[in-house]
Amino acid sequence: MSQARPDGPQLTPAELAVLGDVHKDLFLGGRWTKASNGATLSVEDPAIGVVIAEVADATAADGTRALDAAVAAQVDWARTPPRERGEILRRAYEVMVDKADQLALLMTLEMGKPLSESRSEALYAAEFFRWFSEEAVRIAGTWATAPDGQTRLWTMKQPVGPCLFITPWNFPLAMGTRKIGPAVAAGCTMIVKPAAQTPLSMLALAQILADAGLPEGVLSVLPTSSPQQLTAPLIADPRLRKLSFTGSTAVGKKLVEQSAHQLLRVSVELGGNAPFIVFDDADLDHAVDEAMKAKLRNNGEACTAANRFYVHEAVARPFADRLAERFRALVVGRGVDESVMLGPLIDRAAVSKVAGLVDRAIQDGASVVTGGTRDDGVGYFYPPTVLADVPSHSIILREEIFGPVAPIATFATEEDVLAEVNSSEYGLASYVFTRSLDRALRVCERLDVGMVGLNRGVLSNAAAPFGGVKASGFGREGGREGIEEYLDTKYVSVNVS
Ligand code: NAD
Repeated sequence: MSQARPDGPQLTPAELAVLGDVHKDLFLGGRWTKASNGATLSVEDPAIGVVIAEVADATAADGTRALDAAVAAQVDWARTPPRERGEILRRAYEVMVDKADQLALLMTLEMGKPLSESRSEALYAAEFFRWFSEEAVRIAGTWATAPDGQTRLWTMKQPVGPCLFITPWNFPLAMGTRKIGPAVAAGCTMIVKPAAQTPLSMLALAQILADAGLPEGVLSVLPTSSPQQLTAPLIADPRLRKLSFTGSTAVGKKLVEQSAHQLLRVSVELGGNAPFIVFDDADLDHAVDEAMKAKLRNNGEACTAANRFYVHEAVARPFADRLAERFRALVVGRGVDESVMLGPLIDRAAVSKVAGLVDRAIQDGASVVTGGTRDDGVGYFYPPTVLADVPSHSIILREEIFGPVAPIATFATEEDVLAEVNSSEYGLASYVFTRSLDRALRVCERLDVGMVGLNRGVLSNAAAPFGGVKASGFGREGGREGIEEYLDTKYVSVNVS
């Protein structure tokens, strides 16, 4: 591991320019406004632990004003021709692609991931707007003859109505666009509450959507340091019709409970504990290449991150050695430096959590192949770490690590590994490496998860249905399924006598 670590808090002119271009107020009903109490919240660069912006800090009263605006805009917005809604998304997609470099720099400044990954996220986030601009004009109902031939059965799809979106800090743009895209396409209005750590990317996106022609009131973006105080009254308000949340399982459960009172439509994309399974007939070099992406993408802070490696006992040692060699070659540092391959974690608490999991695994008997020692210098860094011989009871195999740590356990048979993997409370992503077609088909069918990467370490695609089962939540984002989350089906019984 080599270091490209920051030696001071100075921001470059390019960084200051990109920060200066973003509105720091609330985007409320289509207008930029201060918080009702004038408060602001601080945004930090996690690579240097320095405040880089002050952003308006929304109150419950701001939330109510945003819902008033969403409700007022809903009827006209639902009647806006689908092509028009699609073209707004298409224009926003094109601007995001044009501005990918600026969006990437902004995202790296507030979140820390390497610039090349922020650029990929900006383009991936934009893809949801392109995909749903195409879906907007394909919303269709059905017409059928009833089985007894006496009546006709007509169904139509209609927008569910005003939505609340709550998004996490780890993918500040993409977790928003995969909700905003289908909601715009379906004709829903919405309030977005981004994570307090990373509000700048979403505020920049609000301006892009406004410039693309999104009518006033359709979208509000409300950063806040008091999420519960802002969102609980909105969830309790009968005018809200849908909640879509991406974040931790613990918060997701609370929000589902709150939503039950108004019987809101709900989608929750929650935590994961993705297994990365390598059978003894796998192409080991390819598995290591893909493990680098599955583990280290987004600094290891992804819900789809490979969280626990199960490698067949015959190939576990060479796999661990090759992975550790690649980990040692990583350049770790502030993501704005183009040479950096791994950035900081989001905050000091995240470093403590990762360090605690590694220490406990070592106490349980795991051996350190590389890394494993906490770094308390400038910024919130944890070194890329490979642990071998991790015992199956170790907590690191059960909890979401959210950091650059690869714990490797071994297995002997396909049955054993499936039983171990499926015993997790989570069921989001998984990765399987084998050259056997029969085994691949069997294992893909039997895994209790929403998504499988078969000989692949990356799953994300705007055209695919993203989501989980069990404690990883319910609902799907992207793909053909994505827009259904924002549509209700109305049925009309037609008398044709
Ligand atoms: P988090 O649950 O702490 O926060 C997520 C969002 O919820 C933030 O905007 C936060 O401000 C808000 N929030 C927190 N408490 C709240 C409350 N009581 N009421 C209303 N809103 C509240 O999660 P995080 O640490 O920001 O994100 C990491 C988590 O997100 C991980 O568990 C990760 O797996 C998950 N995630 C899941 C997916 C997916 O698609 N399944 C994608 C990305 C991240």
